[in-house]
Amino acid sequence: MISRFAPSTTGEAHPGTLLAALLVWLDARSRGGRVVLRLEDLDVTRTKAAWAAQMIEACAWLGLDWDEVVVQSERGAAHAAALDALAAAGRLYPCTCSRAARAGGRRAPDGSWAYDNTCRGRALPAGGWRAAPEAIRVRLDDDRVTLVDDGGLDLSQAPARELGDPIVRRRDGVIAYQLAVVVDDRDAAITDVIRGRDIAPSTATQVMLQRLLGIATPRYRHHFLLLEPGAGKLAKLHGSIPFSELRARHDGPTLCGILAHAAGLAATPAPCRPAELLEAFDWQRVPRSDRVARWTEHGLAITDEAAR
Ligand SMILES: [Zn+2]
Repeated sequence: MISRFAPSTTGEAHPGTLLAALLVWLDARSRGGRVVLRLEDLDVTRTKAAWAAQMIEACAWLGLDWDEVVVQSERGAAHAAALDALAAAGRLYPCTCSRAARAGGRRAPDGSWAYDNTCRGRALPAGGWRAAPEAIRVRLDDDRVTLVDDGGLDLSQAPARELGDPIVRRRDGVIAYQLAVVVDDRDAAITDVIRGRDIAPSTATQVMLQRLLGIATPRYRHHFLLLEPGAGKLAKLHGSIPFSELRARHDGPTLCGILAHAAGLAATPAPCRPAELLEAFDWQRVPRSDRVARWTEHGLAITDEAAR
């Protein structure tokens, strides 16, 4: 069993990323599995090397270790080879449609605007996908994927119709998430994907890409998220409680205790080390509903969404 924690390094680590890291690590280590840290840094417009370095540091501070660290931006040759394979199969096409053109159309399961595969049938230029100045999409099969994850979440979807064919290479040349994730999981021999529920609507698209590339589908499990109070509604936690503040206020065992308690894995938020949670780790204890993280005078507090 090989699992991975794959954060994008587009900002500081925060309680939500560290919760995800802890759950991935506990799941793998409690089953005697290996676990890979993959730093997802392809989006050069949003990532910083300092944030990647901090992610490694924050996980170590919490008490997590990895069998291997993979830096996604060093995997360009594998991503290009996958695009070549899709091009050889006649699956790639350039798309000039703007996001603005889709706005106001049909909502996709992930909340974005669906793409109606308008440019299917357009040919790549003579120089292939590398020579195309437009975004490149991949033509998926129109079939429905039937899939329920290990937590019982139904991920069944017809991604080509519900979301539209995904972009695999952006107009600015960046390899898109959906392609990189399936290629990198394949090359790290990942058997189990544990990740936050916000990614769940992308799973069927990734399964379709796996089929096109002859990649076996791993097991999936999607866990609850930490939310933050926003303008009138709760949103997924991002930058409001950065690691630099967490570390100034708490030590690693204190944060581990708060996260373990929030995840149903400890009766109290008393300080602990991840290794102490291994013996009793069980997904049955982990709540299904999202929880709310707040920065208080005592530091980080995590509460039930219902009790806020
Ligand atoms: Zn288009």
